[in-house]
Amino acid sequence: MVIGGGYAGTLAANRLRTRADVDITLVNPRPKFVERIRLHQFVARTGDATIDYGTLLSEGLQLVVDSATRIDTTARTVQLASGRELDYDYVIYAVGSTGAETIAAAVDKPVVTVRQVAHRARERVRARRKRFEPVNEAETARITEQFMTAATTGDLKGLLARLAPEAIWTADSVAEPPRHADQCSGRRRWPRSS
Ligand SMILES: Cc1cc2nc3c(=O)[nH]c(=O)nc-3n(C[C@H](O)[C@H](O)[C@H](O)COP(=O)(O)OP(=O)(O)OC[C@H]3O[C@@H](n4cnc5c(N)ncnc54)[C@H](O)[C@@H]3O)c2cc1C
Repeated sequence: MVIGGGYAGTLAANRLRTRADVDITLVNPRPKFVERIRLHQFVARTGDATIDYGTLLSEGLQLVVDSATRIDTTARTVQLASGRELDYDYVIYAVGSTGAETIAAAVDKPVVTVRQVAHRARERVRARRKRFEPVNEAETARITEQFMTAATTGDLKGLLARLAPEAIWTADSVAEPPRHADQCSGRRRWPRSS
């Protein structure tokens, strides 16, 4: 599910549509895409600032004209202003600029946690810092490629084969509270915990 049919949400939804095994629902309060960068033309009456989603969205994508009011990350549901409730497997939250308070209320987390996550994300993007320094660039690129192929094709056996037997999985308890344990060792136990 993609919440917000702006530039980011529309692009994300169309991009995901390239995968045949994914059903995508886009939730947006208006039935038309608002081109924010043309709003000055709309105000000056020199142009239009809306485009039909029909001309933008890929075939097979479901548009729900409504506003998300709450995301229940435990039940994996999104409540809409109309009273409807939609299930999701994964959600992309692309509602444009908004305050930490709104996000905190939507995901039912303290405002301070949301600010902390956003701050860390911004710092990381600014620093262009690698999380880990690869020992061998070429080998790291090869393993990453194999990992991505295994992960995107749902090949769990292939994915496990890429992990070191003694791999340690650590939950980021700020981003997502661990469902089982904070940490577990060994590649066999990792898929059950994550
Ligand atoms: C007047 C103006 C002029 C601009 N000019 C430029 C420019 O010239 N160049 C430039 O690079 N950038 C410009 N920007 C900035 C640019 O528009 C934003 O960076 C861009 O829109 C961000 O895209 P987005 O998809 O994140 O959010 P948006 O485009 O804001 O889209 C968010 C979408 O989410 C929807 N939404 C909000 N809440 C909910 C909810 N609860 N449930 C479901 N849907 C929801 C909104 O209705 C909207 O459709 C301008 C912005 C404005 C306002």
